[in-house]
Amino acid sequence: MAGRLAPMAQRNTWQRERVREALADAPGFVSAQSLHATLRDENTGIGLATVYRALAGLAAQGDADSLQSPDGESLYRACTSSGHHHHLICRSCGTAVEIEATAVEQWARTTAESHGFTDAEHIVDIFGLCANCAKARDARVEN
Ligand SMILES: [Zn+2]
Ligand SMILES: [Zn+2]
Ligand SMILES: [Zn+2]
Repeated sequence: MAGRLAPMAQRNTWQRERVREALADAPGFVSAQSLHATLRDENTGIGLATVYRALAGLAAQGDADSLQSPDGESLYRACTSSGHHHHLICRSCGTAVEIEATAVEQWARTTAESHGFTDAEHIVDIFGLCANCAKARDARVEN
């Protein structure tokens, strides 16, 4: 059994590594589709389903951040900090900033405790327009 599984695991490894590299090169949060488009431009032959699987695997291992965009799309990013943290994300260009949210940590813990919950987790990400995109938008409006 183990002997039959090994070659398949190995074949998936280079694809996952390639997805990991492409993710690290991306400037901010990206969707599986846009990462797949990048890999297709490089003629890697990696299919969209493989990209989805690789990204889900990286996220499960804590090697990538994943979150839902406001329109329900899964977005991924190679994460530079390993501990618990939050993100400020530009919904236009995907640029992300990793942020501490001390007030949120405290609020989440006390809120959970006041309802008798333990082991509480939370996901808090802030979406907005970054300064560059806001400037570009204002320039378009003026013209
Ligand atoms: Zn992060
Ligand atoms: Zn932006
Ligand atoms: Zn938090």
